[in-house]
Amino acid sequence: MIEVKHLDKSFGDLHILKDISTNIEKGEKVVIIGPSGSGKSTFLRCLNRLEQPSDGQIFFEGEDLTHMPDRQLYSVRQKMGMVFQHFHLFPHLTIQKNITLAPVKLKRMTQAEADAKATELLQKVGLADKANQYPDQLSGGQKQRIAIARALAMNPDVMLFDEPTSALDPEMVGEVLELMRELADDGMTMIVVTHEMGFAKEVASRVMFMDGGKIVEENEPQEFFSNPKNPRLREFLSKVL
Ligand code: ADP
Ligand code: MG
Repeated sequence: MIEVKHLDKSFGDLHILKDISTNIEKGEKVVIIGPSGSGKSTFLRCLNRLEQPSDGQIFFEGEDLTHMPDRQLYSVRQKMGMVFQHFHLFPHLTIQKNITLAPVKLKRMTQAEADAKATELLQKVGLADKANQYPDQLSGGQKQRIAIARALAMNPDVMLFDEPTSALDPEMVGEVLELMRELADDGMTMIVVTHEMGFAKEVASRVMFMDGGKIVEENEPQEFFSNPKNPRLREFLSKVL
C-alpha cells in the first residue's frame, strides 16, 4: 500500500530523515516509537506529503506521490486519514458539520449521504448524542474520537495517527485506544506514532523504532519487546517500560 524508497528530509541545514526505506502492506498496523525529535512526525507527514521529501520516493497504492501535482495529490490524500495530537477540529462548526464538511465540499457525497454516514460514525465512536454540540463542549477524549470519526468519513484506505493520546488527561487515553483497537480489528491499515507501549504490544503487527532520523529496528511486537537488539532501543525501552 505504501512504499518508501530512500526517503531523505532536511529543513535547511538540519538533516532530519536519513535514507528511510520500508513497505507497508494493506491491513498492517505499524506502530512507530522513538525519542522526541527523532523524526517520527516528519516521517508521517512525508507519507501524505504534508512535508515535501528532500530526496527519495513515496508510493501510495502504486502511484508515485513524490512530485505529484497538487490537484492530483488532494484526491490521493483523501484516501489517507490523519489524526493529530491536538484534534484540529473546526471550533465554529457542530460535531455533525465537522464530520460532513470534507466529504460534501470535496463532492464525495451529497449532504444527505454525508449526514447518514456521520450518524453511523457517531454511533460507532459512541457519541451519537453529541451531533449538534460544538467541540468546546466535549472532553479531550471525546474530541479525539470525533477527529477519528471525521477522518473515517472519507472512507480512507489507511489511517495515520500522530500521538493521538499524548494531549489527553490520563483517564481519557483508554477510550481513544479502545476505538483505535476496534478500527484495527475491522482490518484498517494503520500507522500509529505513540508512546503507549501496551497498545504497541497488543495491536501492532510491526513495531518500528526511530532514532536520529532512521528506522533503527523493526520487528513483530513479541520479538521487538522481548529481544531488542539495538543498544539505543534497549536503553529507550528500559526508560519507557
Ligand atoms: P518527533 O515527531 O519524533 O518528535 P519531528 O519529526 O517532529 O520529531 O522533528 C524532528 C526534528 O525536525 C526536530 O529537531 C524538529 O525540531 C525538526 N523539525 C520538524 N519540523 C520542522 C520544520 N518545519 N522546520 C525546521 N525543523 C523542523
Ligand atoms: Mg512528533
